Amino acid sequence: MWDDNRDGGLRPMDAEQLREHAHKMPGYLRGILPDSAPNHPESLEDIFNDVRAKILPGVTHWQSPNFFGYYPSNSSIAGFLGEMLSAGLNIVGFSWITSPAATELEMTVLDWLAKLLKLPDDFLSAGEGGGVIQGTASEAVLVVLLAARDRILRRVGKKALEKLVVYASDQTHSALQKACQIGGIHPENCRFLKTDSSINYALSPDVLREAIAHDVSNGLIPFFLCATVGTTSSTAVDPLLFLGKTAKSNGMWFHVDAAYAGSACICPEYRHHIDGVEEADSFNMNAHKWFLTNFDCSALWVKDRNALVQSLSTNPEFLKNKASQANMVVDYKDWQIPLGRRFRSLKLWMVLRLYGIENLQCYIRNHINLAKHFEGLVAQDPRFEVVTPRVFSLVCFHLLPSQNNEDHGNKLNHDLLDAVNSTGKIFISHTVLSGKYILRFAVGAPLTEERHITSAWKVLQEEASTLLGSL
Ligand SMILES: *Cc1c(COP(=O)(O)O)cnc(C)c1O
Repeated sequence: MWDDNRDGGLRPMDAEQLREHAHKMPGYLRGILPDSAPNHPESLEDIFNDVRAKILPGVTHWQSPNFFGYYPSNSSIAGFLGEMLSAGLNIVGFSWITSPAATELEMTVLDWLAKLLKLPDDFLSAGEGGGVIQGTASEAVLVVLLAARDRILRRVGKKALEKLVVYASDQTHSALQKACQIGGIHPENCRFLKTDSSINYALSPDVLREAIAHDVSNGLIPFFLCATVGTTSSTAVDPLLFLGKTAKSNGMWFHVDAAYAGSACICPEYRHHIDGVEEADSFNMNAHKWFLTNFDCSALWVKDRNALVQSLSTNPEFLKNKASQANMVVDYKDWQIPLGRRFRSLKLWMVLRLYGIENLQCYIRNHINLAKHFEGLVAQDPRFEVVTPRVFSLVCFHLLPSQNNEDHGNKLNHDLLDAVNSTGKIFISHTVLSGKYILRFAVGAPLTEERHITSAWKVLQEEASTLLGSL
């Protein structure tokens, strides 16, 4: 239903070739391509031959049903068609007038998606808020951090920049650190608060409150809290309601990053993971991860769109005269870093319409069931251990070292990952939790079926046996 029957396996590269190329990389392409562009046109046939011979061997096949690394990056017929339409029209919709349909469809489709996620009405475009498509979750957190920074500086004066403090857990995506660097937040004022296995790597409200109290007593100004629903490392879910109340009572901007797990919250049975989003000032989910929308499409909602505009518009009128903004048309250039922007809402609109809500919910449930199935297989093999409880479609697990030796365990699992990926049959990635090297198995490619999970587990077991046997 999601796609044609094209074989998404890792061919045409076999294991031997992969190993060969893996050793050659990085820089493998430089040696086999000319130093400069051709003076005269070349034939399409020659170019496609080069694509086959030189480019595809260096491609990681994110659309393969055997790709279980990082988080998924979905492609679908609907997403692909939307991309084609967008490429065909190729408009540059930075302001309403440059292509009214682009702005208006984006507003409508993000309202649809907000309703599907049961976000509070404050995030809808009818009021003071609204949604916007950013390229990535990294841009989303950057623009809201800038809005929050400028909002607090308007209140306390520009000179206070060095006193502003940002809070998040130590599991937060590095995009936040990057945003702080770009936003001029002093590195010593970025609090990446410690988490541990006792609460499955979620941010503890008590730890947050203590950190805030400590900073306030030192004359610093807490202004931004980023919580994550479904951390990149292990799908930890921060308790939004408690964190949000703390943020609010301290006058801070509260951003919720649900880049990966936001998609699951379209199902009623997973929606509770974002309970407390009422407290948030901004909410972000990546439709380009697990929502069948081709890269790039990151949906960001804010309750106060003026806060964004006041930071990002270059029009002095916006800063002077707040009242006149209320009835003004949406110019998305003032909600993002660049001026130019693509007609990205087309593909999200296509996905929502061609599949419909029920099918999208089934799509998510199917992947979560497949991950449960994998978790069950791991649990049955005493040589392995599931490390954190599975929440969505990611399983964190590792091979237990023979003696309870952490260094040995880390090397063992590093070697297992290497061996498994070198077969070319599957691709997985890793994380580090409490100092331990952990394997991540993320289900979510549109073509993945139970048989792929079963054979992936076989590959893992076989490579583990070889490793353990050779010790
Ligand atoms: C993937 C991910 C990001 C980064 O997403 P980009 O769109 O690539 O910037 C941020 N936060 C979380 C929780 C993620 O899973």
